[in-house]
Amino acid sequence: MRMYDVINKKKNNQALSREEIEFAVMGYVRGEIPDYQMSALLMAIYFNGMNDEETLNLTMIMAHSGDMVDLSGIDGVKVDKHSTGGVGDKTSLVLAPLVACFGVPMAKMSGRGLGHTGGTIDKLESFQGFSTSISSDTFIKNVNEKKIAIAGQTGNLAPADKKIYALRDVTATVDCIPLIASSIMSKKLAAGADVIVLDVKVGSGAFMKNIDDARHLARTMVDIGHKAGRKTIAVISDMDEPLGFAVGNSLEVIEAIETLKGRGPEDLRELCFELGAQILMGAGVYDNREQAYNALANKIMDGSALRKFREWIEAQGGSGVEIDDYDRFPKAGIVCEYKSNASGYLAHIDAEKVGDVSLVLGGGRTTKESKIDLSVGVILNKKVGDKVNTNDTLAFVYANSESSLKEAVEILDTVYTFSDEPLRKQPLIKDIISDMCK
Ligand code: URA
Repeated sequence: MRMYDVINKKKNNQALSREEIEFAVMGYVRGEIPDYQMSALLMAIYFNGMNDEETLNLTMIMAHSGDMVDLSGIDGVKVDKHSTGGVGDKTSLVLAPLVACFGVPMAKMSGRGLGHTGGTIDKLESFQGFSTSISSDTFIKNVNEKKIAIAGQTGNLAPADKKIYALRDVTATVDCIPLIASSIMSKKLAAGADVIVLDVKVGSGAFMKNIDDARHLARTMVDIGHKAGRKTIAVISDMDEPLGFAVGNSLEVIEAIETLKGRGPEDLRELCFELGAQILMGAGVYDNREQAYNALANKIMDGSALRKFREWIEAQGGSGVEIDDYDRFPKAGIVCEYKSNASGYLAHIDAEKVGDVSLVLGGGRTTKESKIDLSVGVILNKKVGDKVNTNDTLAFVYANSESSLKEAVEILDTVYTFSDEPLRKQPLIKDIISDMCK
C-alpha cells in the first residue's frame, strides 16, 4: 500500500477501507509517514468528509493506538464527561463533585487549554499542590474511595490523536466533523468509562458555529459510542457568549466554587444540572429528569457538593485553603474596568474573542509548550440581554503587564454588539441527543 494512493482516493471523494485508514494512522504514529502526507490526507478529509463507517474505523484505530484504560477495578457504573471546547467553561469543576455526591464514580480524563478554549487541568493547577499526573493505582483508589478523580491525558492514551491533533492545529483542519468526532471519542473510549456524557458547544466561541453542524457532530459521536458499547448522551449547549462571567484559570475556579456554595451564575448552574441529570439517569440513579434536577440542587443547598469538592482537592495533593480564602489563588497585578462607550441592550458578546482576550493576557496557550499565567483573565459585568448605559462597566480585566492589557482592550473593543430593542434570551440548552432516542 502507498500513502500516495490513500490520499488520492480521498481526494477523489471515495470511501477509505479500514486497512487504508489503519495504514495511514499507524504509519504516521510510527513516524513512517511524514507530516506533509498526513496533512494532505487531513485536508482531503476536511473537504470530502468521511462516511459513518470510515469515521467509526478512524475512531477505533486511534483509540487502540495506545493503552486502553482498564477501570474494572472500580465498582459501579463509571461516568466521564467531555466538552467540545468553549470559553468560560468551568462545568467539570462543579459537575464532577456534584455527581460524585450520589456515589456515581466520576473517573474523568481532562485536557489542557489550547487556542481560545480553556482546559480543566490548567484550571485545577490554580490549587497549590494539586496534581493531575497521579498514577493509575491512585486514580482507581481515589475513585473507589471518594468517587472522584481527574487525571490528565496520560502519555500513551490515544497517541494517534495526540499527534494528529497537533498537526490539525497547524494545518487549519480542526473544525471538521469526522475529525473532531474521532478525536474526542477515541480518547473517551480509551479512557474506559461506561457512560459518556458529551457537552457539544454551538456558537461563536465553539468549533461548531451553527445548530445543524452541532447536531451532526453530536449524532456522529453518540453513534460511535453506542457502536462501541458505551452509553453515550450529547447535550448541545450555547456558546454564543461565554459561560458564566469569569474567563481565565483561577478566576473560573473561584466562580466554580461560588457555584458550589450556591451563588453561581444562572447559566452555569443550569448547564451543570442538565449534564448532571443526564449522568444520573445514564448511571441508573434516577429515571426522571425532574427528580434528578431537584436532587442535584439539594446537594448544593445542603453543602455536600462543596464538601466533596474539598475532599477531592485534598485527595489529589491540594490543601484546599483557597476554597475559604480566594486571596490564596494566583493574583493578577493589574485590575482594570472596561467601560462601554455605547448604550442599548447587549445583543452579542463574541465568545471566541473573549477567549482571545484571555489568551493575549497570558491565560491560554498558543502552542502546546506555552506556559500559562493562571491569574489573568476577564470577569464580564454584563451578559446578553442586559441594559447598558454609556460608561457602565462591561468587564473587569485582570492583567500582569500594561502591554498585554493594551492588547486585551483592543480586542474587547470588537467584542460587544448592541441593539436598541430588548431581546429575548436564547435558550442555553439547544437539544439532547442520546442513543435511546434513535
Ligand atoms: N477537542 C478534541 O479533543 N478534539 C477535537 O478535535 C476538538 C476538540
